[in-house]
Amino acid sequence: MNLAKLPRRGYVQTPTPIEFLPNFSKALGDKVRIFVKRDDLLPGCGGGNKTRKLDFCLADAMLQGADSVITCGAVQSNHCRLTLAWSVKEGLDCHLVLEERVKGSYRPDALGNNFLYRLLGATGITVVPGGSDMSAEMEKVADALRKKGKNPYIIPGGASSALGAQGYVACAQELLEQLFRMGLDVHTVVLPSGSAGTHAGFLAGLVGCNAGIPVLGIDVSRPRAVQEALVHSLANEAAKLAGMNGTVPRDAVKCDDAYVGEGYSLPTASMTEAVKLLARTEAILLDPVYTGKAMAGLIDLVRKGAFPEQANLLFLHTGGSPALYAYPDTFLKDGA
Ligand SMILES: *Cc1c(COP(=O)(O)O)cnc(C)c1O
Repeated sequence: MNLAKLPRRGYVQTPTPIEFLPNFSKALGDKVRIFVKRDDLLPGCGGGNKTRKLDFCLADAMLQGADSVITCGAVQSNHCRLTLAWSVKEGLDCHLVLEERVKGSYRPDALGNNFLYRLLGATGITVVPGGSDMSAEMEKVADALRKKGKNPYIIPGGASSALGAQGYVACAQELLEQLFRMGLDVHTVVLPSGSAGTHAGFLAGLVGCNAGIPVLGIDVSRPRAVQEALVHSLANEAAKLAGMNGTVPRDAVKCDDAYVGEGYSLPTASMTEAVKLLARTEAILLDPVYTGKAMAGLIDLVRKGAFPEQANLLFLHTGGSPALYAYPDTFLKDGA
């Protein structure tokens, strides 16, 4: 794999830190050693995993002479916030198509990421009902812009295309280099699995490097079989684009759907516990939609003894803390 062949903008200049979490590991009984890779500290307004993907996607947009970007997400989408932020930096217009996945959940005056859409000056915001065909909705916005003489570029939800996933193929390579330097042998990587570009790219990268480190994706919306199929097909597309020999074996794709709760973005008790525990032991902020549920999964699996004694576990912190500020009641009600 030679990712240097692919154009990118250079948003990620230095590796994100890997930190040991001594207090958090202790709070879980010191059965395992938990490390976190801090992709929440990536550059871009508020940080998070979409910066790695947008590095490749926006490079493609600019090579195609785009003057405006269109993307989509949920009403509190970190991906929309970061696409907008990097579009601002690049001098591109940015149109957001927001899917109201939970009926009645869009409020123009909502805080969190929604507030940042406004503060950063999104060129346009279109809200569509849950279950809408988001590609078709983005095409409609693109057609309207073309009629005005604009040259729009569509980035799919979560920037989870084979191109966007290259950001996490690169992250896997970055991680292996860091682990080598630290002399740290990781038993399992745990990460949130949403639109799947992160999980798929990361897995493709590790498989492409023959790392032999298992990756466990904690689902945030879909049932396990559906999510695993999505991750598998995107991992193979990403592997091909990265120039990897061979494919990603189906049995390397592992998802756990036990921590979704009632649905995407709907708070669960184990999510609030996870967010509070990491905040109060390590002063690291998770988010309610992705990393809070993924960490709830890791906590539960550690408590159940799913990992060997003293195994080194690595949690990929994909960011999202701005969304916390849209959910204060969830945490206050729960004794925060
Ligand atoms: C988008 C997102 C994810 C999920 O990443 P995918 O590549 O969509 O699976 C995880 N965490 C945060 C904070 C996100 O914004």
